[in-house]
Amino acid sequence: MARTDTAHSEGSSAFAQAGEQESKAAALELRNVSKRYPGQREPAISGLSLTVPAGEVCVLVGPSGSGKTTAIRLINRLISISGGDILLGGRSVLRRDARELRREIGYVIQQIGLFPHQTVGENIATVPGLLGWPKERIAARVRELLELIGLEQEMAARYPAQLSGGQRQRVGVARALAADPPLMLMDEPFGAIDPINRARLQDEFLGLQEQVKKTVVLVTHDIDEAIKMGDRIAILRDGGHLAQYDTPREILIHPADEFVAEFVGADRGIKRLSLTTLGELKLAEPNGLLADLRSVGALRAPAQTSVRDALSMILTANGAPLAVVDGEDRVQGLVTLSLIERLLSEEAADGRAPLGETAAGTEATPGSAAAPREVA
Ligand code: ADP
Ligand code: MG
Repeated sequence: MARTDTAHSEGSSAFAQAGEQESKAAALELRNVSKRYPGQREPAISGLSLTVPAGEVCVLVGPSGSGKTTAIRLINRLISISGGDILLGGRSVLRRDARELRREIGYVIQQIGLFPHQTVGENIATVPGLLGWPKERIAARVRELLELIGLEQEMAARYPAQLSGGQRQRVGVARALAADPPLMLMDEPFGAIDPINRARLQDEFLGLQEQVKKTVVLVTHDIDEAIKMGDRIAILRDGGHLAQYDTPREILIHPADEFVAEFVGADRGIKRLSLTTLGELKLAEPNGLLADLRSVGALRAPAQTSVRDALSMILTANGAPLAVVDGEDRVQGLVTLSLIERLLSEEAADGRAPLGETAAGTEATPGSAAAPREVA
């Protein structure tokens, strides 16, 4: 199995056999971008600069009116730019034919915008059709995408009104991916979905992204969604000013200013715990407790559990340690309150070398914790 040493390869094994399909991604760069709408005194965006490396998810987050949708529409040239430049794959989008450019950019919006009088299959086939692909190639691509988004092939003949909100959203993503665009723009794609389905769609999208590795700019006003979905988060404030552009971990540990600190919330310490899984911790050894654990049927959690959820379980159990188990229910080690406390203090002391970073598959930092040990 092919493995790279980027964070993107984490957890991708489930997709390994399907992951051989072609896939393109291009870096996106906004250079000193500004936008002033006609008749408006204040620009909606001014001096916005940021770079999204190829294959990364950048989440644009900020309060309503901070210019998120404006930024997205500038990138695919649905509106005209007032100043600065936008480069996709090193090429200015301003010098491209706008229609041709849009066929290279997948676009997903909250209302999904499926064509109501076209079937699911026809909707997905939109851009390949515009690009003049042969019929057989289009049909094969529609089948492939339906499989990718987990919809049955029979769904191709249905009309959007015959789908649930979540299914429509999946079809919207499939349509955006149809011609294998190097960039995906997603404007509040999960905004109209109920919380339970939203969480599921977010997870599905992350799984899909493991596989297709697109450059993605995803807009949300929900900081929790940003933390969950983003490789990096760009926090915008009024007037389209960039307050901070960083990894979720950095934003939670070192918010750039009061605005960011307030935006991420007073519970940012707890939110941080959701970024680390139990498998990334150096677990406490069960020692003699192991036999006891088996007999009393202690709380167990798989290694993929977030530290945040583990903390919640420990607190619910009045502070009792939690046994971390592998797929065969073998105890790998214990998580205790003091171990979580130590994680927080070590991160606070050096946000760039949190406990367990090596195990997470990201860059090793001198002095960071060793990979987790087999205990059982
Ligand atoms: P967000 O998506 O972050 O909520 P928008 O990009 O939609 O914000 O809007 C940014 C600012 O630009 C807001 O002040 C909004 O009122 C203004 N704006 C958006 N679209 C237009 C337009 N077509 N004409 C004039 N002003 C607009
Ligand atoms: Mg918007």
